[in-house]
Amino acid sequence: MQLRVGQIVEDTEAEGPGRRFAVWVQGCTLACPGCCNPHLFNSRGGDLVEVSALLARVAAVEGLEGLSVLGGEPFQQAPAVGELCAGAHALGLSVMVFSGYTLAELQAMAAPLEHVDLLVDGRFDAGRLDTSRRWVGSTNQQLHLLTERGRADAPRFASPNTVEIRLTREQLTVNGWPAASQVVRRW
Ligand code: SF4
Repeated sequence: MQLRVGQIVEDTEAEGPGRRFAVWVQGCTLACPGCCNPHLFNSRGGDLVEVSALLARVAAVEGLEGLSVLGGEPFQQAPAVGELCAGAHALGLSVMVFSGYTLAELQAMAAPLEHVDLLVDGRFDAGRLDTSRRWVGSTNQQLHLLTERGRADAPRFASPNTVEIRLTREQLTVNGWPAASQVVRRW
């Protein structure tokens, strides 16, 4: 199965607890005003990637704690995202997903949540910025600890937000959560 991917960071500490392989899926029709990733709206952009190939890249990175799936809207590619999350669990990794849909909407859609430990849900609301909860963009969004593994991560969500700044192939990129953040790594 193929997943349309906009961006990958293979080893980050700014997109969930611990060191994580982060995948930004390409394509989102929710169009929240103030979204920080409008370049990921176009469902024809990015690259089509075999989930199995993506999982091979995940498996090749030593010392990861988990996989984070961001967007774009992950559940607008639900079958492929479900396969990716299941594969990450099979590798012994935790799985965190950021979705613009609420948990109730995802359940109504029968979205594949079986292999999601941590879910941040809901549309981003630029008028309700949240600077007190790590990895959460606006106060309407909720962190759902869907599994025992997710619940064990709860205390780590009280830390300040972080950003990473990296220079690769002469290109400067920043990932993480800019609101009230501190820099955790520079490459
Ligand atoms: S759901 Fe996420 S990616 Fe889509 S517009 Fe909203 S904030 Fe942006």
